[in-house]
Amino acid sequence: FDAMATLGDIARHHGRTRPDHIALSFEGRLTSYAALDRHTDQVAAALAASGVQPGECIAYLGKNSDHYFELVLGASKAGAIMAPIGWRLSLAEAAYIIDDTQAKLLFVGSECIACAHDALKQAETKPQLIAMEAGEHALPAYEAWRNAQTPGTPRAVAPKDTALLLYTSGTTGRPKGVMLTSANLLRSRRKIAEHAMGWNEWGAGEVNLVAMPAAHIGGTGWGLVGLINGVKNVVTREFNPVDVLEFIQSERIAKMFMVPAALQFVIRMPRAREIDYSSLTHILYGASPMPVALLQECMEVFGCQFCQQYGMTETTGTIVYLPPQDHDPKGAKRMASAGLPMPGVELRIIDTAGNVLGPNQTGEICTRSAANMLGYWRKPDATTSTVDAEGWLRTGDAGYLDEDGYLFIQDRIKDMIISGAENIYPAEVENAIHGHPHVAEVAVIGVPDEKWGEAVKAIVVAKPGVTPDAESIIAHARERIAHYKAPKSVDIRDAPLPRNATGKILRRELREPYWSGKERRVN
Ligand code: ATP
Ligand code: MG
Repeated sequence: FDAMATLGDIARHHGRTRPDHIALSFEGRLTSYAALDRHTDQVAAALAASGVQPGECIAYLGKNSDHYFELVLGASKAGAIMAPIGWRLSLAEAAYIIDDTQAKLLFVGSECIACAHDALKQAETKPQLIAMEAGEHALPAYEAWRNAQTPGTPRAVAPKDTALLLYTSGTTGRPKGVMLTSANLLRSRRKIAEHAMGWNEWGAGEVNLVAMPAAHIGGTGWGLVGLINGVKNVVTREFNPVDVLEFIQSERIAKMFMVPAALQFVIRMPRAREIDYSSLTHILYGASPMPVALLQECMEVFGCQFCQQYGMTETTGTIVYLPPQDHDPKGAKRMASAGLPMPGVELRIIDTAGNVLGPNQTGEICTRSAANMLGYWRKPDATTSTVDAEGWLRTGDAGYLDEDGYLFIQDRIKDMIISGAENIYPAEVENAIHGHPHVAEVAVIGVPDEKWGEAVKAIVVAKPGVTPDAESIIAHARERIAHYKAPKSVDIRDAPLPRNATGKILRRELREPYWSGKERRVN
């Protein structure tokens, strides 16, 4: 770890120490660590030749690929910043991000060429396009662009330099660009390595699965974890439950990170109970609330160790983890916790006036560590209102710490329902409903109510072939949580719930029709 101060050093270091080990495996194409080092030197030279200056962005609009990771490390070697753009965003959102990054070059996956052209019609920034794959699109192709250069003298790059510009998932509003430095990405990892943490100890021959989208910390961040640890990383173009099962078996996957919604897809596949999972050591999950009933099902199907991760783009991903030993199905209380702060991470809970609260008192979760972002890109005001002068970052999440220091996340403060004088966290209600035998998906929102201000509504998608009735869902909730938290009404839907690319339910979209013309107070 000491040999790695910048992202570019990841390729340099493992290129020397384990040159022949496979770094990336993508659709039959294998890249060794020596090749990764060479390719990323070429990328750096090509970026310099294209006029990209240190501190400037390059953008990527495409699905996951091995070459995307070359660009991330190569950009760092050139002192440039990689800004991946989610391929599921709307044209207007993609155009907004292209303009925000002011990227000189836009690398485009083959599925996104038409979309890139359309987005650029709406954008003011006009980057040069480079296609990730050669094809019938009259654009220069990545490999030819990269291979045309002979690496020159490396640029001086500092650990404090921004290496990645990751946009937040846009769950609560417009995505914000988060500046993450090499130090953010590497220093927080070194802390983990210094403390023996089973879930993050990698055997040299272990294989990592990178199946979450690159535009998010759970995709790029997780791929970097594998690369930092010098293991083989199997990259999937997009999340697909059939491929996940296939790769676990054929590639002998040891570790993978997945969001709860993705795990749910995987275990519901008919083949899920026929797969050989003996290579799996750990499944890391997080990014949105994990219903305990789903977690128990996953533990039963996969039979490996589980570890929850809590964090955000602004904290370079994981800052709190629930270790495998706390995944005792009988100790259900611990299973509902997000876990303990990682080494070097400070947590505190504050009230609306900023006072620090004691154990078991709910307030806003704040954190301070080397993993906190440098700031929001070109949004100094947003940065100062999120991170105070002492380095404490406000997460926007409500939660409490118990007397043992375990963090319990309640929900996003913006989604909290105030009904009468009571605060109700939708995640708790969703968790209570999720175990109902007829429920496949559930979201809980606050809808306007004349008497109570807001009333709790559950929106339910039924499992195939069953028709749940609202009364039984309300009764199920009332058996498990306080009556005032149980839904007053239930809508049953056929269509899946709206989610963003990280599997988070877009409650603001679900709320919209109920609030048209009315102002919802923001907590
Ligand atoms: P935006 O900030 O644009 O609204 P976002 O907050 O969803 O989007 P991310 O940075 O991808 O963008 O997500 C961080 C958030 O995800 C956290 O603030 C928290 O609400 C949620 N989250 C992360 N991990 C967990 C977890 N283990 N359990 C519950 N919620 C989680
Ligand atoms: Mg956020």
